[in-house]
Amino acid sequence: MKRIIFAGAGHANIVALRRLGRRRIGAELVLVNDGPQAWYTGALPALIRGDITSSQAAIDLPALAAHCGARFIDARVAGFSDHALRLAAADPLDFDFLAIAIGGTMIADGVKPIPDLLRRLEALRPLASPGLGILGSGAAGVEIALAARQRLGPSAEICLCGKTLLPRAPARARRIALRYLATARIELVSELPARHDALIRAYTPEPDMAVRQTLQLFGEDHVFAAGDCAKFPSPVARSGAIAVRQGRVLAANLRASVRAAPLQAFKPPPATLAIMRLDGSRALAWYGGTTVHGVLPSRLKAWLDRRWLEG
Ligand SMILES: Cc1cc2nc3c(=O)[nH]c(=O)nc-3n(C[C@H](O)[C@H](O)[C@H](O)COP(=O)(O)OP(=O)(O)OC[C@H]3O[C@@H](n4cnc5c(N)ncnc54)[C@H](O)[C@@H]3O)c2cc1C
Repeated sequence: MKRIIFAGAGHANIVALRRLGRRRIGAELVLVNDGPQAWYTGALPALIRGDITSSQAAIDLPALAAHCGARFIDARVAGFSDHALRLAAADPLDFDFLAIAIGGTMIADGVKPIPDLLRRLEALRPLASPGLGILGSGAAGVEIALAARQRLGPSAEICLCGKTLLPRAPARARRIALRYLATARIELVSELPARHDALIRAYTPEPDMAVRQTLQLFGEDHVFAAGDCAKFPSPVARSGAIAVRQGRVLAANLRASVRAAPLQAFKPPPATLAIMRLDGSRALAWYGGTTVHGVLPSRLKAWLDRRWLEG
């Protein structure tokens, strides 16, 4: 029987595992992740605000694997050569096909791992007037800044540092976000002030695993990569929504590979729905040039989040 290893529980691998697990494709499925939980960044603002608990913001991977008829291995992937996956502090694993979804490169002071970020924010709470600098003024930076205001209270000095606020959003969405930032007394700056007690880098570094549109690595037909770690010939937006779409192609291509059938190409959509939490009950959504804000997008996001986490 062929063996497929899913290295890292990124969105694309979770989608592919759920799909292949349902259809029982006659291959042994193995999921390897550096920890038993897949943290969901979409739920991070609610987690920072204290609206949900950690168990409501992560997928239980041993349970997911069991449900999909897969084996779960809690280990850090250290690399691969030919048909062997190298693991830190464990024996290598042989594979016929490998799917890599380990997310973007880890950076110091980054958003991931999420438990570290929560600890860093918690360490600020006893300070009289904590200074928090957030680097990156995209959706992640704005969501974290607004949630941190609620977590740290009115005495915290929070600033958001970036060249352009929400660079991929329509102008109306930008104006609404600016209004919320101003009300929350979050300063938008182009350079971080020298005084800050903690820094959060709310951006993902450029990906480094070069893939073809079939998600196969160049020169490695049996190895696939998707999500924030995958670098396409032309740049593709990096988000959970895009990674989920790649997961559908990944599932189809792993199935086709087992059967030696032709593979599909991943085609990025012209636009995806973006929904950003503003507070506990309101969200800001945009699709192409259309912007909606208020309770409705917040309910839609809560439903989408639940659907993702509960499978
Ligand atoms: C605050 C915030 C909010 C966001 N909200 C949204 C949103 O609402 N919608 C949206 O579409 N996008 C959102 N994003 C973007 C989205 O989170 C990422 O683009 C998405 O997580 C894609 O990551 P991924 O699936 O590639 O991998 P990840 O989700 O980062 O998962 C990678 C997995 O691999 C594991 N791993 C890493 N290295 C190793 C290793 N060496 N060995 C074994 N396992 C490893 C990790 O533990 C993790 O489980 C948000 C981002 C942030 C920061």
